[in-house]
Amino acid sequence: MASENICPNCGASNDPVFANCMFCNTPLIKVELSTLSSESIIENCGLWIGRLAGADFEGIHITTGEKGMFKQNHVLLSLGEVKGNVDRYLILLETRVISNPNLEGVLQRLNERYKEALKNCKSNSKNSKVFIVLAIVFIVGIAALCIWAANMGWMPTPGKK
Ligand SMILES: [Zn+2]
Repeated sequence: MASENICPNCGASNDPVFANCMFCNTPLIKVELSTLSSESIIENCGLWIGRLAGADFEGIHITTGEKGMFKQNHVLLSLGEVKGNVDRYLILLETRVISNPNLEGVLQRLNERYKEALKNCKSNSKNSKVFIVLAIVFIVGIAALCIWAANMGWMPTPGKK
């Protein structure tokens, strides 16, 4: 089971790494990450890696399940924040491996997924940037064409017959 911290104000589910609610910024009841079960750590770490894989240069968007219940039901987390959360869980798991070598395999798999996710989010970012550049080139191109056409007298310009 993934571990969650329910906001006492808005009822949104937050990851235990957060000190304040992602949605309404209310301070959450502190969860000592070191008290989480290894299963929860693995689960939450995997969750953040999954989010990272779907991130672009902007970061990731998180929405609460039901709309209208919360003051703010949508937040944007930066790539740095998402990576930071993955790192926190990975470090936590690394310390667990010392006392429980059985976790070694899981840690390795998570590290591999993390690398894959980083590659993915880089290519997502590239695609978005390429798209924006193309859009700008397209708009500037159309504008230039219009100006040129107007200068050539191919388009009705105000004041001229
Ligand atoms: Zn809240």
